[in-house]
Amino acid sequence: MLRGGNHEARQPRGKAARHQPRYHNLLGRIRILPDQVANKIAAGEVVERPASVVKELLENSLDAGATTVRVEVESGGRRLIRIVDDGCGMLRDDALLAFERHATSKLRDVKDLLSIATLGFRGEALPSIASVSRLLLETRSAEETTGTRIEIAGGKMLRCEEAALGGGTVITVRDLFYNVPARRKFLRTEPTELAHIASLVTHYSLAHPEKTFLLTSGPTELLHVTPVGTMKERVYQVFGSQVLDELVEIGLREREMFLPPPSVPASEAIAEYRREPTADDDPPTRLFRLSGFFSRPQVQKGNRNSIYIFVNGRLIRDRLLLHAISSAYHNLMPASSYPFALLFLECDAEEVDVNVHPSKTEVRFRHGSFIHDFVRDTLRERLMESRPANVFSPRTVEPAQPAARLPFSEFSQMLEEVAPSAPSIVEPPAQPAAPADPDLPAFTLRPTAGPAPRLDFSAPPLEITPGPPPSGKLSRRLDAHGEFPPDAIPAPEMSLSVLSELRPLGQIHESFIVAVGRDGLWIVDQHVAHERILFEQVMKQRAAGRVEMQRLLMPLILQLTPEQQIDYARIADELNASGFETEPFGNRTIAVKAAPAHLSAAELDKILYEILEIAETELRGASLDELRRNICASIACRAAIKINMRLDTAKMEWLLRALAATDCPMSCPHGRPIAMHYSTRDILKGFHRI
Ligand code: ADP
Ligand code: MG
Repeated sequence: MLRGGNHEARQPRGKAARHQPRYHNLLGRIRILPDQVANKIAAGEVVERPASVVKELLENSLDAGATTVRVEVESGGRRLIRIVDDGCGMLRDDALLAFERHATSKLRDVKDLLSIATLGFRGEALPSIASVSRLLLETRSAEETTGTRIEIAGGKMLRCEEAALGGGTVITVRDLFYNVPARRKFLRTEPTELAHIASLVTHYSLAHPEKTFLLTSGPTELLHVTPVGTMKERVYQVFGSQVLDELVEIGLREREMFLPPPSVPASEAIAEYRREPTADDDPPTRLFRLSGFFSRPQVQKGNRNSIYIFVNGRLIRDRLLLHAISSAYHNLMPASSYPFALLFLECDAEEVDVNVHPSKTEVRFRHGSFIHDFVRDTLRERLMESRPANVFSPRTVEPAQPAARLPFSEFSQMLEEVAPSAPSIVEPPAQPAAPADPDLPAFTLRPTAGPAPRLDFSAPPLEITPGPPPSGKLSRRLDAHGEFPPDAIPAPEMSLSVLSELRPLGQIHESFIVAVGRDGLWIVDQHVAHERILFEQVMKQRAAGRVEMQRLLMPLILQLTPEQQIDYARIADELNASGFETEPFGNRTIAVKAAPAHLSAAELDKILYEILEIAETELRGASLDELRRNICASIACRAAIKINMRLDTAKMEWLLRALAATDCPMSCPHGRPIAMHYSTRDILKGFHRI
């Protein structure tokens, strides 16, 4: 379905109402699954909390091809959950059957389990929900002139009658767990349960920009989004423009996988060889597609609650993909931080087994490592292409929709005690998690010796030429302070690619380079900037097997503890490949004969002890690649120019240009931001000129 030159299938997400046509074809009459199919379905508890009821009912509405879904709750869903949709509705007989266990219209036989295209397939949600609540179903299919009303309490049918109803389905669930006090006791507070529901509806709304979603809690409207053409517009509707600015859009990325040809017996292979080739003879392939948004490295979260992964329209949690996302940010973000991500992965239904977990939130991929690498590489590539700039003083703004502010996700249960999640992604960049480097000169506010570099504010901002005199309402602002024509304000510079064009003006405290460019003011941390430059340089040299080295006049002899001795033995090859020449020298001592260029000989012992410490804490569990990167990061950090160091203009220019030439000028290898941007627009706003 996804293969070949089918351009429709390759259209970016958004307008393509993917689920609707596909599901409509699938929805036939409801049947009870035969035992052999039912037994193969991952069994377990469906209804854990109000949010799980909302999830099941919402998925049913989407499966029914609804274009508008309204969710009403009261008391965090304990007292009332009502879902109103304009989907295909149910025939009377089907409506009755739907409350039997394993009654579904979405699955026929065991074979169908391998390629599930709907969100539901187990036929268990409605009976499960009906058995622990007072449920009212009102539904009418377009094929019938009257609708059906069914009332069930605690699993007992109280009423089934004909009713005059509009098309679509309304399911009202009251008093959840009224007959299971043990379960009721385990519910969290109403705001917590509500937050779970809000998060769920919000994220399904993100996955379906072409549909209308409305969520109300009592009289309060928490989310209301109307159909839009693109995912970007939906993100804007839900989170607002400020959050959108923090994100990098993936666009649509694809990667094709060639499947190994099926093994055929020799005789058939010969016949096959002699056969005339036909159009169907292309090697079998699978196409994987990724779209969505993820945050620039400076948006750092303390937990994974802001990572949302949809696989074929289904919200899932998956360790493999979480790992892929983290590795994309490796050496761009501290290891203990997480980004915001909203990812949509699409693939053939046969590539993913959704029948793994009763609540269908876990999946198993047939080609997991391929998908892992695809996701990791795509995010990394997009980060390197877009080089997102870090803006000054992110203002904490309210998201566009109140629901987006509610902090919990369906998946946060396990995490919420450990670390409370942040309320929105617009938060001040986290303090660098890396421990302060004791060897960096202390940051002091001492007066500089000699003539201090002056910041020249008298010159007009670069390349901003006054436009024609403003007309109409603008002229009212013309006053003695001068006018700044709005159309002369450059579009905010979102990418660090401009770094090479910046003009350095001076340093703040001999530590931060102040520079101006096409759009506004930039401040660059000289130490981390140089660290990033050296890090990439050493990594590249290392990959080519040619790290620049300097020979020591006298070998440096280092004493090791027994533990360090063991660590040394494990990483000796790595050390030598990274530009050190070391060898054992008697009992628990090593001799260092050469070291990477740039490193000061006086610091060699410190850096080697530091690397041994990295080895100690990281070798267990960390991959060789990570160890390698961390050794290079250590070398870069030690060799980089320090803060509190005076730089002349030529040096600053060199630094900015070299930084611009790196793959990832956003963060240092330990995840600290390198450059901050103060756009012309923000400057003008600050001075009340716009
Ligand atoms: P499943 O979704 O796994 O099939 P459910 O118990 O959730 O099982 O639903 C049973 C059946 O009821 C579905 O297969 C579908 O045919 C029908 N159904 C449920 N909700 C709706 C709805 N909102 N609109 C139309 N049909 C529905
Ligand atoms: Mg269902």
